Amino acid sequence: MLKLHEYQSKQLFAQRGIPIPKGKVATAAQEARDIAIELGGRVVVKSQVLVGGRGKAGGIKLAKSPGEAEELAAQILSMTIKGLPVRKVLVDQAADIRKEIYLAVTNDRAARKPLMMASSAGGVDIEEVARTDPEKIIREHVDPLMGLRDYQTRNIALGIELAREQWKQFSEIAAALYRTYVETDASLAEVNPLVITGDNRLVALDGKIVLDDNALYRHPDLAEMRDLDEESPQETEARKYGLSYVKLEGEIGCMVNGAGLAMGTMDIVKFFGGSPANFLDIGGGAQADKVTAALRIILSDSKVKAVLINIFGGITRCDEVARGFLAARQELNASVPMVVRLVGTNEEEGRRLLADASVITATSLADAAQKAVAAAKG
Ligand code: GDP
Ligand code: MN
Repeated sequence: MLKLHEYQSKQLFAQRGIPIPKGKVATAAQEARDIAIELGGRVVVKSQVLVGGRGKAGGIKLAKSPGEAEELAAQILSMTIKGLPVRKVLVDQAADIRKEIYLAVTNDRAARKPLMMASSAGGVDIEEVARTDPEKIIREHVDPLMGLRDYQTRNIALGIELAREQWKQFSEIAAALYRTYVETDASLAEVNPLVITGDNRLVALDGKIVLDDNALYRHPDLAEMRDLDEESPQETEARKYGLSYVKLEGEIGCMVNGAGLAMGTMDIVKFFGGSPANFLDIGGGAQADKVTAALRIILSDSKVKAVLINIFGGITRCDEVARGFLAARQELNASVPMVVRLVGTNEEEGRRLLADASVITATSLADAAQKAVAAAKG
């Protein structure tokens, strides 16, 4: 998953014809002042962090003058929003908002189709609208072969009670948003709010695009937009070694080969009363360096009280995993107890390598999980 910043998302929208406010990104307060002067004084200063609800958190402020823009930028640039330090602000020409609309395209897995959603209750969190006024969300599934049809955007325009004079603008924006979604291989392309201005223009004030990692190889330009400042060093490291890693809140670090086995391992850890600290799939045929990196990532989480390594050797060779494990142990000098279960290709060789490595060995997965849970409890 690659989340793009507001300024990046709006750029991609603008390239496809969606109107956005004039604006530029600043990393220093002085720079925000210069941009405000260029834009004519009245601007909105917006924190660029990859979380929603920046407005409510105080990360979006209106400035009436370049001096005020500088002051607010300094203030916002020193903020931390939901754990993320603000490193950049977007300085946009302020909009004269008459009404806020929600418009998005996402992937409806159950329907196996893209879904366009809109609401006249824009600006606020859409999950909240879904809870309180579900009838205010208008939905149109898009046939991927047919694309978004004009009658569908008219249905939406009608559903959100848009005045006739805005229908043409709205149709063009909806079509461009759908195009953005398809062309970037996004799983979400969202404009919230899409506003109607005092002079009856529709403008995308906020933008959010989430891209599918599995399609990024087709979009080197988009892959470059990833903001490494916004992800944890562990995630960056995992991506570098081709490991699938998701951090969780528990205390048993898991290293497994294969996504299905990794999920099964997490389930059985929970079954025996433990809680997994992560999902980590080292993939098929992992070499020693990958195993070393995986263990380094797991152990960098200070909550981890025990490690469970569950390898089903097929393409992956157990001796290779053992070698990576030993290298990591040497490098990391960790005191956390480790339970290892190696089954399959070259398992004897793997076990022999680990014989004097002071690890807890296990034969069955149930045995391994129970030992890991016990070890984590001290
Ligand atoms: P979010 O809170 O992270 O979703 O950030 P948004 O970009 O959606 O901004 C939150 C709210 O700030 C919007 O719904 C608007 O009400 C307000 N806002 C954003 N830009 C402007 C602007 O240019 N002018 C005015 N008046 N309000 C704005
Ligand atoms: Mn928003």
